[in-house]
Amino acid sequence: MNQEQTLAAVLHSDELPTLPTVASEIITLTAREDTTLTDIGDLVSKDTALSAKILKVSNSAFYSFPQQISSINQAVSILGINAVRSLVLSFSFLSIKAGKKRGHFNFETFWKHSLAGAVASKLILGQVKGADTEEVFVCGLLQNLGELILARTFAEEYEEVLKKVEDGQYDHLNAEEEVFGTFHSTIGYEVAKNWGFPEVLLLPILYHHEPTLYKGGNPKIDATTKALYLSDLLINILYSNKPEEFHKRFNKEAKTLLGLKNKDLEYILNEVHTQVDQAGEYFGLRIKNTKSIQEILQEANIRLSLMNLDFDQMNQELIRAKVKLENLTKELEAKNKILANLANMDGLTEIYNHRYFQITLENEIDRCIRNASQLSLLLIDIDHFKNFNDTYGHQVGDFILKEFSRILKENIRKYDTLARYGGEEFTVILPDTNAEEASAVAEKLREAIDNTTFSDSRDEYHITASFGVSSARPATIDNFEKSNFISQADAALYEAKEGGRNQVVTYAAKKRWYKF
Ligand code: GH3
Ligand code: MG
Ligand code: MG
Repeated sequence: MNQEQTLAAVLHSDELPTLPTVASEIITLTAREDTTLTDIGDLVSKDTALSAKILKVSNSAFYSFPQQISSINQAVSILGINAVRSLVLSFSFLSIKAGKKRGHFNFETFWKHSLAGAVASKLILGQVKGADTEEVFVCGLLQNLGELILARTFAEEYEEVLKKVEDGQYDHLNAEEEVFGTFHSTIGYEVAKNWGFPEVLLLPILYHHEPTLYKGGNPKIDATTKALYLSDLLINILYSNKPEEFHKRFNKEAKTLLGLKNKDLEYILNEVHTQVDQAGEYFGLRIKNTKSIQEILQEANIRLSLMNLDFDQMNQELIRAKVKLENLTKELEAKNKILANLANMDGLTEIYNHRYFQITLENEIDRCIRNASQLSLLLIDIDHFKNFNDTYGHQVGDFILKEFSRILKENIRKYDTLARYGGEEFTVILPDTNAEEASAVAEKLREAIDNTTFSDSRDEYHITASFGVSSARPATIDNFEKSNFISQADAALYEAKEGGRNQVVTYAAKKRWYKF
């Protein structure tokens, strides 16, 4: 077939889709010079389903206008006639039912890729300073319209094109030329011209594979055509089986054709997969979880490195990868343990925190009940610590809290649990310890503190602390309450403070207090 035969057949074919009424009316209307914003608004408003879709997109992140657009007339005046025409056409085309899958040509995939092309074109042109992006979306969407028309009109011949490409004999354009004597870009252009499309939409379709052939001098058409050309490279990173090759070409040609900088490219490459998914949602196509370009390139890289290996090497490589993965998992487990532990530690004193104290006390009570053993608890509060801070400053106060904790820790058994109860209050859980033993421990700690001269690089300090002790055999008490047990130690501590501080008091029922 030559170009004329193909074209004549296409234009007279029953398979040539007719444009929905609103779409063709909006083309006619926008071609007239006396058309007003209201005319356009009125036309679109007549189609309520379409109007609703347009309003939804106008108010989405797709346009990110700061103000709410609530009517089509408002949309026309804020977005502009061209942008609204662009949306009407986009929705109209996407609503033309895909048709059945015929042979290798998959109509659903065609529209998904076209929508991705539209998103990519808009994203690319959006990075060009001062560029008019109103219509690039619909141009991007319809750039490969000719493929659809050819596949509908000449199902069998189009199979041949796809087969030639699959066999690796031809690239896509050469295969089309071989079979049809022309290209999908020409066919798309001629059909859209037949529908009355204006030049700004037509010429980018015609030149999208050879943007430098456009010599018309209209900067908008020029930039749009180049964006379309680049969008094809970008889409091929997402969907072809040679992502690296297209990635390289995209980076190089985006710089030469549109003067984009590295940071623009980075932005486009990072954004495109999310925007494609979003557009799928706005335009009602099932597109989800498009892979990010970074992920695609990583996978391709791994595939490539495995491809160059023979079977034994590949096996070795996989074993190494598996070992590495296992090591990483172990490392991760260890890190998680440290992290979980951190959640139990007090940042300043590096002893356990209040949360851990509560959990441990609970567990120790359970254990004591099982073993019918005795459990003791110390609550410790530094004396006049507010004064201390006021005199020496908070930083010295912090230093004391750390040293204080260290000294307590040095003087208890390894199965006792020392924790910071809060502020300048501390607590020690003493399993298997009766009241007498517990007050002896408390007294030992009190003396250790009293006998310590704390010294930093500046000065020497002395502090004292008061101790409250509670002790119980939980198995012998009905409904033993953890909070009661703590309150008892607290009451004893209060007595120690009242009694003049720097002393140990042990709680006993019926208010008989035992001072050490
Ligand atoms: P008392 O003998 O009655 O316990 O007197 P006190 O001053 O120690 O008691 P109070 O509860 O009035 O004051 C506690 C002080 O402990 C107040 C606060 O500045 C100090 N403090 C609490 N947490 C920290 C901390 O993390 N760092 C420092 N430097 N001081 C703290
Ligand atoms: Mg206090
Ligand atoms: Mg205090």
